[in-house]
Amino acid sequence: MSSTKNKNKDISPMNEIFDYVIVGSGAAGSVLSFYLTQAGASVCLVEAGKSFSYGEYPVDELTANSQLMWHGGADLNTQANLILLRGKTVGGGTVINQCLLDRFDTFAWNLFKQASNISWFTNEIMHPHYLAIEEQLSIQTISQAHWNNNAKLYAKSFDKLKLNYAPLQRGQSYCNNMDCIVCLGGCNRNSKQSMPATFLKLALRQKLKLISQYHVKNIIPGKNIISIYGNHITGPKVINARHCILSAGALGTTEILLRTGFANKLPALGKGFYCHPQFMYLAQCKDPVDAHIGNFQGIKSTDVRFRKQGFKLENVFARPIGIALLKSGYGLDHQQFMQKFRYLACIEVAIRDECPGFITLKNNRLAIHKILGDTDKQKVNSGKDVVFEMFNQLNVSHKEQPTYPIGLHLMGGCAIGNNSHSSVVNERFGVWSEPRLSIVDGSIFPIAPGINPSLTIMALAHRASQYLLRQHTQLQKTTNDIQISTATSTEYA
Ligand SMILES: Cc1cc2nc3c(=O)[nH]c(=O)nc-3n(C[C@H](O)[C@H](O)[C@H](O)COP(=O)(O)OP(=O)(O)OC[C@H]3O[C@@H](n4cnc5c(N)ncnc54)[C@H](O)[C@@H]3O)c2cc1C
Repeated sequence: MSSTKNKNKDISPMNEIFDYVIVGSGAAGSVLSFYLTQAGASVCLVEAGKSFSYGEYPVDELTANSQLMWHGGADLNTQANLILLRGKTVGGGTVINQCLLDRFDTFAWNLFKQASNISWFTNEIMHPHYLAIEEQLSIQTISQAHWNNNAKLYAKSFDKLKLNYAPLQRGQSYCNNMDCIVCLGGCNRNSKQSMPATFLKLALRQKLKLISQYHVKNIIPGKNIISIYGNHITGPKVINARHCILSAGALGTTEILLRTGFANKLPALGKGFYCHPQFMYLAQCKDPVDAHIGNFQGIKSTDVRFRKQGFKLENVFARPIGIALLKSGYGLDHQQFMQKFRYLACIEVAIRDECPGFITLKNNRLAIHKILGDTDKQKVNSGKDVVFEMFNQLNVSHKEQPTYPIGLHLMGGCAIGNNSHSSVVNERFGVWSEPRLSIVDGSIFPIAPGINPSLTIMALAHRASQYLLRQHTQLQKTTNDIQISTATSTEYA
């Protein structure tokens, strides 16, 4: 995609009535755009963030945080002791994420089934949806030859403790052990399998209309059309469609529905917010580790005991601003710590949080109420004990606990389920009692799975596209007013 082409795509007539308007161009919105346009539907994808082509992503951390993320790089919970990161750019979280792509295991699907009472949450039924997504992406395993020093130290300590680990699986095409930490601010090589590099690129070839820098405020469902109200960079605009799909992520989608005034109508709205809090533990080594060089993540724990206890360990690192935030204090002490940047090894504990948060509007602003429950704290402590034991194997001079946990996997707020009291969308992704409105993104997760969510969000979007196309085929039969070919719409289980 050239930037000129992108800019042209952004010029869209607002007087057209689209078959679908999709709000949010992240993992879910881009995949939906691809399958709906492939079937011949007219689709308008709107996104609050800016559009970048590869080669244009900011290379310095500060600019990347401010240009590609909401609120300059961090949302905070109401107690200001949990940092939440989310993408605000065309491609959403997939542009700034690490692109580790994992399918759910049986344990996760069982958790989903129990929490939602939806029977198709199984490996077998989701398999074709995963397959459809995986076929469009280049997914590679980080080989041992490409482990960086931080990964090697992780493996060494795990070997000493006789614990199991496995290489990570990542969406990438030709990283080849290069300086990939920069791609947390957008991949300028076009190797990371973000949406602009994959599904979105294909959808644009299929006549998708993309409007970036359009911040949706609220929606008004009508009898025959649904209207989307928001502020474009050029001023306030309304877009009309026969159907609207909210894919603005857990916080974005929930906020739009709260602003629309659905809180009374949908009692589950805003409830059940999860984020897989991650705790990055640092250790100062005697020799330089250079954890920022090469594949900055390579290995994860696979010990079944950890999965049962609700945490996992990954070797990970961050750029200087991210690392600086992990260290408490200021002044000389902090400066001396940062001077040792090259000597730091890092292991992260990520927990499957069980204490649900909730999201409200307070003084017209989003308020994220999220704390760690006792069970969650127990999981963190169990993980920390293993990490410190690992550091002990490495003979490190100093261990550092993170000041704040970070939530990167934002989930829930509009849970899927089988009744309108405990959920916001039904098993066909439709908002209860709103026939022209659907939700497809991380906000529909009924519980935290404890597994990287983006591949599953994309697989769910593939499934949702089939429901949506079938729904519109039925509409076409009766009204004959929508021209959608269903040639690619396969039957769902
Ligand atoms: C640093 C980081 C690392 C991560 N690493 C991984 C990983 O390795 N593996 C993994 O599986 N997951 C990872 N994730 C999480 C993953 O990126 C998300 O779970 C995923 O992108 C969520 O998809 P989504 O479609 O729900 O929303 P998003 O991808 O967040 O997309 C939502 C989009 O909607 C837009 N939007 C929001 N509100 C509005 C509005 N009002 N109007 C218009 N547009 C709006 C946003 O700007 C955004 O572009 C990571 C996340 C971060 C931040």
